[in-house]
Amino acid sequence: MLDEIARVQEDLEAEIAGAHTQESLEQIRIKFLGKKGRLTTLMRSLGGVPAEERPQVGQKLNKLKKRAEQLLAEKQEAIKSSAIAARWDAERIDVTLPGFPFAMGRRHPLQVVLLEIEEIFSSMGFKIAEGPDIEYDYYNFEALNIPREHPARDMQDSYYISSDILLRTHTSPVQIRTMEAMQGELPVRIIAPGKVYRRDDDVTHSPMFHQVEGLAVDKHISMADLKGTLLLFVREMFGGDREIRLRPSFFPFTEPSAEVDISCIICDGRGCRVCSETGWLEILGSGMVHPRVLEMSGYDPKEVTGYAFGMGVERIAMLKYGIDDIRLFYHNDLRMLEQY
Ligand SMILES: [Zn+2]
Repeated sequence: MLDEIARVQEDLEAEIAGAHTQESLEQIRIKFLGKKGRLTTLMRSLGGVPAEERPQVGQKLNKLKKRAEQLLAEKQEAIKSSAIAARWDAERIDVTLPGFPFAMGRRHPLQVVLLEIEEIFSSMGFKIAEGPDIEYDYYNFEALNIPREHPARDMQDSYYISSDILLRTHTSPVQIRTMEAMQGELPVRIIAPGKVYRRDDDVTHSPMFHQVEGLAVDKHISMADLKGTLLLFVREMFGGDREIRLRPSFFPFTEPSAEVDISCIICDGRGCRVCSETGWLEILGSGMVHPRVLEMSGYDPKEVTGYAFGMGVERIAMLKYGIDDIRLFYHNDLRMLEQY
Protein backbone atom coordinates (compact mmCIF):
# COMPACT_ATOMS: atom_id res chain seq x y z
CA MET A 1 0.00 0.00 0.00
CA LEU A 2 2.76 2.45 0.89
CA ASP A 3 4.53 1.58 -2.35
CA GLU A 4 1.33 2.28 -4.26
CA ILE A 5 0.99 5.67 -2.53
CA ALA A 6 4.58 6.53 -3.49
CA ARG A 7 3.91 5.57 -7.14
CA VAL A 8 0.76 7.66 -7.28
CA GLN A 9 2.64 10.62 -5.85
CA GLU A 10 5.46 10.20 -8.34
CA ASP A 11 3.09 9.96 -11.33
CA LEU A 12 1.00 12.84 -10.11
CA GLU A 13 3.98 15.17 -9.73
CA ALA A 14 5.39 14.20 -13.12
CA GLU A 15 2.09 14.73 -14.92
CA ILE A 16 1.42 18.09 -13.31
CA ALA A 17 4.92 19.24 -14.18
CA GLY A 18 4.30 18.27 -17.83
CA ALA A 19 0.91 20.01 -18.13
CA HIS A 20 0.81 23.26 -20.09
CA THR A 21 -2.91 23.99 -20.47
CA GLN A 22 -5.88 24.35 -18.16
CA GLU A 23 -7.54 21.49 -20.06
CA SER A 24 -4.73 19.00 -19.50
CA LEU A 25 -4.56 20.06 -15.85
CA GLU A 26 -8.27 19.28 -15.47
CA GLN A 27 -7.68 15.85 -17.05
CA ILE A 28 -5.00 15.18 -14.43
CA ARG A 29 -7.30 16.28 -11.61
CA ILE A 30 -9.98 13.85 -12.79
CA LYS A 31 -7.43 11.08 -13.27
CA PHE A 32 -6.21 11.34 -9.67
CA LEU A 33 -8.90 13.08 -7.60
CA GLY A 34 -12.06 12.29 -9.61
CA LYS A 35 -14.70 9.81 -8.35
CA LYS A 36 -12.80 6.96 -9.94
CA GLY A 37 -9.41 8.66 -9.62
CA ARG A 38 -6.33 6.78 -8.50
CA LEU A 39 -5.99 8.64 -5.22
CA THR A 40 -9.72 8.46 -4.50
CA THR A 41 -9.65 4.71 -5.11
CA LEU A 42 -6.71 4.35 -2.72
CA MET A 43 -8.56 6.29 -0.02
CA ARG A 44 -11.60 4.08 -0.47
CA SER A 45 -9.47 0.98 0.03
CA LEU A 46 -8.21 2.28 3.41
CA GLY A 47 -10.77 0.04 5.11
CA GLY A 48 -8.89 -3.06 3.87
CA VAL A 49 -5.63 -1.97 5.48
CA PRO A 50 -4.73 -3.77 8.72
CA ALA A 51 -5.86 -1.74 11.74
CA GLU A 52 -2.40 -1.15 13.15
CA GLU A 53 -1.14 0.34 9.84
CA ARG A 54 -4.30 2.30 9.11
CA PRO A 55 -3.40 5.58 10.94
CA GLN A 56 -0.03 5.81 9.23
CA VAL A 57 -1.44 5.00 5.76
CA GLY A 58 -4.40 7.32 6.32
CA GLN A 59 -2.08 10.14 7.30
CA LYS A 60 0.05 9.61 4.18
CA LEU A 61 -3.03 9.54 1.94
CA ASN A 62 -4.38 12.76 3.44
CA LYS A 63 -1.02 14.44 3.02
CA LEU A 64 -0.84 13.30 -0.59
CA LYS A 65 -4.33 14.61 -1.30
CA LYS A 66 -3.44 18.01 0.17
CA ARG A 67 -0.23 18.04 -1.83
CA ALA A 68 -2.11 17.12 -5.01
CA GLU A 69 -4.59 19.94 -4.50
CA GLN A 70 -1.80 22.40 -3.77
CA LEU A 71 0.22 21.38 -6.83
CA LEU A 72 -2.84 21.61 -9.07
CA ALA A 73 -3.67 25.11 -7.76
CA GLU A 74 -0.10 26.31 -8.19
CA LYS A 75 0.13 24.96 -11.71
CA GLN A 76 -3.20 26.54 -12.60
CA GLU A 77 -1.91 29.96 -11.52
CA ALA A 78 1.33 29.42 -13.44
CA ILE A 79 -0.51 28.53 -16.63
CA LYS A 80 -2.78 31.53 -16.25
CA SER A 81 0.04 34.03 -15.81
CA SER A 82 2.10 32.56 -18.62
CA ALA A 83 -0.95 32.92 -20.91
CA ILE A 84 -1.18 36.60 -19.96
CA ALA A 85 2.54 37.02 -20.55
CA ALA A 86 2.26 35.37 -23.96
CA ARG A 87 -0.58 37.69 -24.91
CA TRP A 88 1.34 40.68 -23.62
CA ASP A 89 4.30 39.65 -25.76
CA ALA A 90 2.12 39.30 -28.82
CA GLU A 91 0.48 42.68 -28.34
CA ARG A 92 3.47 44.63 -27.19
CA ILE A 93 4.14 47.76 -29.24
CA ASP A 94 7.63 47.92 -30.56
CA VAL A 95 8.40 51.62 -30.53
CA THR A 96 11.51 51.08 -32.64
CA LEU A 97 9.45 49.95 -35.65
CA PRO A 98 8.99 52.53 -38.42
CA GLY A 99 5.59 54.30 -38.30
CA PHE A 100 2.69 53.93 -40.72
CA PRO A 101 2.62 56.66 -43.39
CA PHE A 102 -0.47 58.88 -43.12
CA ALA A 103 -2.36 59.68 -46.30
CA MET A 104 -1.89 63.45 -46.47
CA GLY A 105 -4.67 65.53 -47.93
CA ARG A 106 -3.91 68.58 -49.99
CA ARG A 107 -5.63 71.78 -51.05
CA HIS A 108 -8.06 71.69 -53.94
CA PRO A 109 -6.64 73.48 -57.02
CA LEU A 110 -9.38 76.12 -56.76
CA GLN A 111 -8.42 76.75 -53.15
CA VAL A 112 -4.76 77.05 -54.14
CA VAL A 113 -5.62 79.68 -56.76
CA LEU A 114 -8.03 81.48 -54.44
CA LEU A 115 -5.40 81.73 -51.72
CA GLU A 116 -2.89 83.02 -54.24
CA ILE A 117 -5.32 85.71 -55.42
CA GLU A 118 -5.98 86.70 -51.80
CA GLU A 119 -2.28 86.86 -51.08
CA ILE A 120 -1.52 89.09 -54.08
CA PHE A 121 -4.26 91.59 -53.27
CA SER A 122 -3.55 91.51 -49.54
CA SER A 123 0.02 92.54 -50.33
CA MET A 124 -1.41 95.57 -52.15
CA GLY A 125 -3.42 96.63 -49.09
CA PHE A 126 -6.79 95.06 -49.93
CA LYS A 127 -8.79 93.64 -47.03
CA ILE A 128 -10.88 90.50 -47.41
CA ALA A 129 -14.64 90.96 -47.11
CA GLU A 130 -17.41 88.39 -47.17
CA GLY A 131 -21.14 88.35 -47.82
CA PRO A 132 -23.95 85.79 -47.71
CA ASP A 133 -24.51 83.24 -50.50
CA ILE A 134 -28.26 83.69 -50.06
CA GLU A 135 -28.77 87.32 -50.91
CA TYR A 136 -31.49 89.96 -51.15
CA ASP A 137 -32.53 91.02 -54.62
CA TYR A 138 -31.72 94.54 -53.48
CA TYR A 139 -28.01 93.84 -52.92
CA ASN A 140 -27.64 91.41 -55.81
CA PHE A 141 -29.32 93.65 -58.40
CA GLU A 142 -31.03 96.87 -57.43
CA ALA A 143 -28.27 98.56 -55.47
CA LEU A 144 -25.94 97.63 -58.33
CA ASN A 145 -28.04 99.70 -60.71
CA ILE A 146 -29.87 96.69 -62.13
CA PRO A 147 -33.57 97.45 -61.51
CA ARG A 148 -36.30 94.89 -62.04
CA GLU A 149 -36.99 94.20 -65.72
CA HIS A 150 -33.47 95.35 -66.61
CA PRO A 151 -32.23 93.16 -69.50
CA ALA A 152 -28.90 92.59 -67.71
CA ARG A 153 -30.77 90.28 -65.33
CA ASP A 154 -31.33 87.80 -68.16
CA MET A 155 -27.67 86.85 -68.19
CA GLN A 156 -27.75 86.12 -64.49
CA ASP A 157 -30.72 83.87 -63.88
CA SER A 158 -30.50 82.14 -60.51
CA TYR A 159 -32.48 80.17 -57.96
CA TYR A 160 -35.03 82.35 -56.22
CA ILE A 161 -36.06 81.42 -52.68
CA SER A 162 -38.73 84.12 -52.88
CA SER A 163 -39.23 87.08 -55.20
CA ASP A 164 -36.84 89.10 -52.99
CA ILE A 165 -34.29 86.46 -51.98
CA LEU A 166 -32.03 84.46 -54.29
CA LEU A 167 -28.72 82.63 -54.51
CA ARG A 168 -26.34 85.47 -55.39
CA THR A 169 -25.26 85.53 -59.02
CA HIS A 170 -22.01 87.40 -58.40
CA THR A 171 -19.87 88.62 -55.51
CA SER A 172 -20.72 92.24 -56.39
CA PRO A 173 -23.33 92.58 -53.60
CA VAL A 174 -20.39 92.56 -51.18
CA GLN A 175 -19.39 95.93 -52.71
CA ILE A 176 -22.67 97.41 -51.51
CA ARG A 177 -22.61 95.70 -48.12
CA THR A 178 -19.05 96.91 -47.52
CA MET A 179 -19.73 100.52 -48.50
CA GLU A 180 -22.90 100.56 -46.37
CA ALA A 181 -20.96 99.23 -43.38
CA MET A 182 -18.17 101.79 -43.82
CA GLN A 183 -20.68 104.67 -43.75
CA GLY A 184 -18.76 107.02 -45.99
CA GLU A 185 -15.33 106.30 -44.52
CA LEU A 186 -12.29 106.27 -46.83
CA PRO A 187 -10.47 104.50 -48.31
CA VAL A 188 -12.48 101.42 -49.24
CA ARG A 189 -10.16 98.71 -50.53
CA ILE A 190 -11.48 95.16 -50.41
CA ILE A 191 -11.60 91.91 -52.27
CA ALA A 192 -14.54 89.59 -51.72
CA PRO A 193 -14.00 85.93 -52.59
CA GLY A 194 -16.91 83.48 -52.56
CA LYS A 195 -19.32 81.11 -54.27
CA VAL A 196 -21.87 82.36 -56.77
CA TYR A 197 -24.77 80.64 -58.56
CA ARG A 198 -26.19 80.86 -62.04
CA ARG A 199 -28.37 78.85 -64.35
CA ASP A 200 -25.45 77.75 -66.54
CA ASP A 201 -23.98 74.34 -67.19
CA ASP A 202 -21.47 73.48 -69.90
CA VAL A 203 -17.74 72.91 -70.45
CA THR A 204 -16.83 76.42 -69.31
CA HIS A 205 -19.81 77.23 -67.05
CA SER A 206 -20.91 75.63 -63.81
CA PRO A 207 -24.14 76.34 -61.88
CA MET A 208 -21.93 77.08 -58.88
CA PHE A 209 -18.55 78.73 -59.27
CA HIS A 210 -16.20 81.07 -57.44
CA GLN A 211 -15.60 84.74 -57.94
CA VAL A 212 -13.35 87.33 -56.42
CA GLU A 213 -14.74 90.83 -56.36
CA GLY A 214 -12.50 93.85 -55.96
CA LEU A 215 -13.46 97.36 -54.92
CA ALA A 216 -11.45 100.51 -54.25
CA VAL A 217 -13.09 103.83 -53.41
CA ASP A 218 -11.18 106.96 -52.48
CA LYS A 219 -10.54 110.51 -53.58
CA HIS A 220 -8.88 110.81 -57.01
CA ILE A 221 -9.06 107.15 -58.01
CA SER A 222 -8.82 106.82 -61.77
CA MET A 223 -8.89 104.13 -64.41
CA ALA A 224 -5.08 104.24 -64.39
CA ASP A 225 -5.16 102.90 -60.81
CA LEU A 226 -7.42 100.10 -61.98
CA LYS A 227 -5.14 99.19 -64.85
CA GLY A 228 -1.98 99.38 -62.74
CA THR A 229 -3.48 97.21 -60.00
CA LEU A 230 -4.69 94.57 -62.45
CA LEU A 231 -1.39 94.53 -64.36
CA LEU A 232 0.45 93.89 -61.11
CA PHE A 233 -2.01 91.13 -60.21
CA VAL A 234 -1.72 89.46 -63.61
CA ARG A 235 2.08 89.49 -63.54
CA GLU A 236 2.12 88.02 -60.04
CA MET A 237 -0.35 85.34 -61.05
CA PHE A 238 0.78 84.40 -64.57
CA GLY A 239 4.37 85.58 -64.78
CA GLY A 240 6.35 88.79 -65.05
CA ASP A 241 6.00 89.38 -68.79
CA ARG A 242 2.20 89.23 -69.16
CA GLU A 243 0.54 92.21 -70.79
CA ILE A 244 -3.07 93.27 -70.31
CA ARG A 245 -5.50 95.19 -72.45
CA LEU A 246 -8.78 96.82 -71.54
CA ARG A 247 -11.65 96.44 -73.99
CA PRO A 248 -14.75 98.65 -73.69
CA SER A 249 -17.69 96.71 -72.30
CA PHE A 250 -20.92 97.22 -70.40
CA PHE A 251 -21.89 96.48 -66.83
CA PRO A 252 -24.78 98.35 -65.22
CA PHE A 253 -22.78 99.05 -62.04
CA THR A 254 -19.63 100.49 -63.66
CA GLU A 255 -19.12 103.38 -66.05
CA PRO A 256 -17.00 103.18 -68.07
CA SER A 257 -16.69 99.39 -68.09
CA ALA A 258 -13.95 97.22 -69.49
CA GLU A 259 -13.22 93.57 -70.10
CA VAL A 260 -9.64 92.78 -69.23
CA ASP A 261 -7.59 90.43 -71.41
CA ILE A 262 -4.12 89.05 -70.78
CA SER A 263 -1.60 88.15 -73.46
CA CYS A 264 -2.10 84.44 -74.15
CA ILE A 265 -0.10 82.30 -71.76
CA ILE A 266 0.06 79.43 -74.26
CA CYS A 267 1.41 81.25 -77.33
CA ASP A 268 2.73 84.41 -75.68
CA GLY A 269 0.48 86.56 -77.86
CA ARG A 270 1.42 85.07 -81.23
CA GLY A 271 -2.00 83.41 -81.67
CA CYS A 272 -3.06 79.82 -81.01
CA ARG A 273 -6.11 77.57 -80.70
CA VAL A 274 -6.66 78.45 -77.01
CA CYS A 275 -6.84 82.20 -77.68
CA SER A 276 -8.69 81.71 -81.01
CA GLU A 277 -5.64 83.13 -82.83
CA THR A 278 -6.13 86.54 -81.19
CA GLY A 279 -3.17 86.35 -78.81
CA TRP A 280 -5.42 87.49 -75.93
CA LEU A 281 -7.40 85.71 -73.24
CA GLU A 282 -10.29 87.33 -71.38
CA ILE A 283 -9.89 87.01 -67.61
CA LEU A 284 -12.16 89.50 -65.88
CA GLY A 285 -14.64 92.35 -66.01
CA SER A 286 -14.00 95.75 -64.48
CA GLY A 287 -14.79 99.44 -64.55
CA MET A 288 -15.21 102.66 -62.62
CA VAL A 289 -17.94 102.38 -59.98
CA HIS A 290 -21.15 103.90 -61.35
CA PRO A 291 -22.02 107.22 -59.62
CA ARG A 292 -25.48 105.90 -58.82
CA VAL A 293 -24.01 102.87 -57.03
CA LEU A 294 -21.78 105.14 -54.93
CA GLU A 295 -24.75 107.32 -54.13
CA MET A 296 -26.99 104.42 -53.10
CA SER A 297 -24.24 103.14 -50.81
CA GLY A 298 -23.78 106.45 -49.02
CA TYR A 299 -20.85 107.98 -50.91
CA ASP A 300 -20.90 111.29 -52.76
CA PRO A 301 -19.87 110.70 -56.41
CA LYS A 302 -18.77 114.35 -56.63
CA GLU A 303 -16.26 113.76 -53.82
CA VAL A 304 -15.00 110.23 -54.45
CA THR A 305 -14.46 107.79 -57.26
CA GLY A 306 -13.73 104.10 -57.32
CA TYR A 307 -13.04 101.09 -59.46
CA ALA A 308 -14.39 97.56 -59.23
CA PHE A 309 -13.52 94.25 -60.85
CA GLY A 310 -14.76 90.69 -60.71
CA MET A 311 -12.97 87.56 -61.81
CA GLY A 312 -13.93 83.89 -61.98
CA VAL A 313 -11.58 81.75 -59.92
CA GLU A 314 -12.26 78.69 -62.10
CA ARG A 315 -11.37 80.71 -65.18
CA ILE A 316 -8.06 81.79 -63.64
CA ALA A 317 -7.30 78.22 -62.50
CA MET A 318 -8.15 76.77 -65.94
CA LEU A 319 -5.80 79.23 -67.63
CA LYS A 320 -3.06 78.78 -65.06
CA TYR A 321 -3.14 74.98 -65.14
CA GLY A 322 -4.31 74.43 -68.73
CA ILE A 323 -7.56 72.71 -67.70
CA ASP A 324 -10.15 72.67 -70.50
CA ASP A 325 -13.28 71.43 -68.68
CA ILE A 326 -14.62 73.30 -65.64
CA ARG A 327 -16.46 70.20 -64.43
CA LEU A 328 -13.16 68.49 -63.62
CA PHE A 329 -12.92 70.74 -60.54
CA TYR A 330 -16.02 69.15 -59.03
CA HIS A 331 -15.62 65.46 -59.92
CA ASN A 332 -13.34 64.77 -56.94
CA ASP A 333 -11.22 62.50 -59.13
CA LEU A 334 -7.95 62.02 -57.25
CA ARG A 335 -6.02 61.42 -60.48
CA MET A 336 -6.83 65.01 -61.38
CA LEU A 337 -6.66 66.57 -57.91
CA GLU A 338 -3.31 65.03 -56.99
CA GLN A 339 -1.58 66.96 -59.78
CA TYR A 340 -1.92 70.33 -58.04
ZN1 LIG B 1 -2.69 81.82 -77.64
